[in-house]
Amino acid sequence: MLNDTVIYAERALYLTLLALAQTQPSAYDWLSKLPEWLNSIKDKANYAHAPAYQAAVARLPDINVETADLDSDRVTINGTLSDSERKQTHALLQQLKPWRKGPFQIGSSENDREESQPIIIDTEWRSDWKWQRVVPHLGNLKGRRVLDVGGGSGYHGWRMAGAGADTVIIVDPSCLFYHQFMAIRHFVGAADDYRTHYIPVPLEALPEHSQLFDTVFSMGVMYHRQSPFEHLQQLKGQLVKGGELVLETLVVDGDANTVLVPQDRYAQMNNVYFLPSVAALIGWLEKAGFSDVRCVDVAVTSRDEQHKTDWMTYHSLQDFLDPNDPTKTLEGHPAPKRATLIAKK
Ligand code: SAH
Repeated sequence: MLNDTVIYAERALYLTLLALAQTQPSAYDWLSKLPEWLNSIKDKANYAHAPAYQAAVARLPDINVETADLDSDRVTINGTLSDSERKQTHALLQQLKPWRKGPFQIGSSENDREESQPIIIDTEWRSDWKWQRVVPHLGNLKGRRVLDVGGGSGYHGWRMAGAGADTVIIVDPSCLFYHQFMAIRHFVGAADDYRTHYIPVPLEALPEHSQLFDTVFSMGVMYHRQSPFEHLQQLKGQLVKGGELVLETLVVDGDANTVLVPQDRYAQMNNVYFLPSVAALIGWLEKAGFSDVRCVDVAVTSRDEQHKTDWMTYHSLQDFLDPNDPTKTLEGHPAPKRATLIAKK
């Protein structure tokens, strides 16, 4: 289905990579793969829900957008929605549930007429909290080329653009998250100067030694990977020399030799592999060849940060913890604690 939002987004991505290729020939490898990468999401055989999600994005109304505020906790599209646009938008965005990563707001809030209140997408995760923990420790993102690996719905990607990044590319193979990004892209339109892009593929699909990015983020991804060292190498391959890796992942307490490998599920997730201690993780990064490795934050995930909402009605953190001992998961493992590490290539 022809959809202006997706067509413009894809065109902007081609132009960005083409411009990049003038100085970084490895961008040509990306350009040659791009048709395949972008078409993969349209293939019903790979993604059964894709046609329904595409149709929802295609039917979003063109509202009158004034500005996009990518630099506030709630990524906000300022503009006015008529009553019918509001209803239509709300219903279509609800078809893209569950909304896990956000929050987002469509429409300005200063308008106090009840019927033209903005739509607030209250997501399962307060992804802004993670951003607040990470952002003070980043160098200035102004003018930088940034890759967000496993960027989910794109919430952090928009924040990276809001923080001044020159180019942001999100890679994530999730069909739902890709379409949620396109829904927000529809409303942001040209307000970010088309600096924020999404390629619906896993990190492993990218050319290995692209060396295209000044900063590479991998947040909430590594514990899903069966081979953490391969993941670290693949992240490193995307960075320019001297570039910065921002790695956020689940950790456990312990010394340099402590790593938890859950035998079965972890907090009900069945795809969790390695949960190192911070000391072990620092050792892994150094072994993978990174330097200046530092842990800048450790935080236990609270039930306010990850919770059920009208936009994500399934079970959430409170259902994954032991009701008698919230320091433990249902399976008896330590409750989720996340660390952010920054390292140099
Ligand atoms: N970075 C966001 C979202 C984390 S959720 C945040 O920190 O809030 C984990 C995401 O990683 C999911 O969207 C999943 O689709 C994605 N993911 C899993 N394996 C991946 C891989 N190999 N390459 C890129 N993304 C991956």
